[in-house]
Amino acid sequence: MTTTPITDTITTLAAEARAALDAAADEAALEAWRVGVLGRGGSLTAVLRSLAGLEPETRRAVGAAANRLRDELEAALAARREALGAQALAAQVAAGALDVTLPGRPLRRGGLHPVTQTLRVILDAFTRMGFDTVEGPEVELDEYNFERLRIPADHPARDMWDTFWLSSLGAAPDRSAGSGAAARDRDAGALLLRTHTSPMQVRYMEQHAPPIRIAVPGRCYRYEATDATHEWMLTQVELLVVDEGVSMADLKGTLQEFARQIFGAQTRVLLRNSYFPFVEPGVELAVSCFACPGDDPACVVCRGSGWLEIMGAGMVHPEILAAAGYDAERVTGFAAGMGVERIAMLRHGIDDIRNFYANDLRFLRQF
Ligand SMILES: [Zn+2]
Repeated sequence: MTTTPITDTITTLAAEARAALDAAADEAALEAWRVGVLGRGGSLTAVLRSLAGLEPETRRAVGAAANRLRDELEAALAARREALGAQALAAQVAAGALDVTLPGRPLRRGGLHPVTQTLRVILDAFTRMGFDTVEGPEVELDEYNFERLRIPADHPARDMWDTFWLSSLGAAPDRSAGSGAAARDRDAGALLLRTHTSPMQVRYMEQHAPPIRIAVPGRCYRYEATDATHEWMLTQVELLVVDEGVSMADLKGTLQEFARQIFGAQTRVLLRNSYFPFVEPGVELAVSCFACPGDDPACVVCRGSGWLEIMGAGMVHPEILAAAGYDAERVTGFAAGMGVERIAMLRHGIDDIRNFYANDLRFLRQF
């Protein structure tokens, strides 16, 4: 390349810029250098702008050289900045101001909520037994939450599930009239926060033919005063199995296997007679106490009874199978529902259900 005034300018500029950069001793000097050379009004920027007035051929050659110089200077700036940082660090260490042997500060990691952890353990157990996991709506129709589970408006069993009604349809009851009387005024289209996961039994059977084997996890809501064992929000897992030849023995075997997976291989189960409108017969499932041999009156887990009730269950009522369009002479089924908070409390020795949703990190960080 022939020597022209512009290439002289670039050569001079490069030498001066490199010398100035080597002389810059701190971050302020580096920034002043960057503005003076590479900045919008910087010396190299001015050279690049002046290229516009050159002959095309010269412009290409000089332009390439100037752009190369800009890349070099940017890289030199980064290297200089890193070198200065390392020098400063070394100076701090030498002065004893920085102890590089100290352990780092731990980063606090988030964790899964204890109810979520227990829910996953429960669903894993049922997944291993061949259950599919499906979910249903939390805002539910009276029709699914009650009517089609054989709990009509005037049924006394409605009192088992105190309900949050949603007033958007104008069908919310007057609670001052008492739940029994008010219940009679409602229609099946009224909206509510589901009180249990059982409505998904009906919804699923509407859409699917047997064989059915599902686990339905979800939040449920109860209009009730809270205490150590009652919350207005709870997490349930519902089970539904429908097929030809499903019997009480299948129910017991499934729940026994579940109890062993959750509470240990020694766990025994006990079925006691109970009542739920949508099953016949209905049972309450208890598991043997895992904290004592079963006869320790001082046991805080079972309070000396030896048994812990963990879920309600039963054989699906034939009327519900028939309402789903199934041949209730041919297929049978069992259903079960358990409270996840209750099982989490047993697993972890938690004595007050209100701890779960109080959002006290001292509690939550233990899990
Ligand atoms: Zn016990």
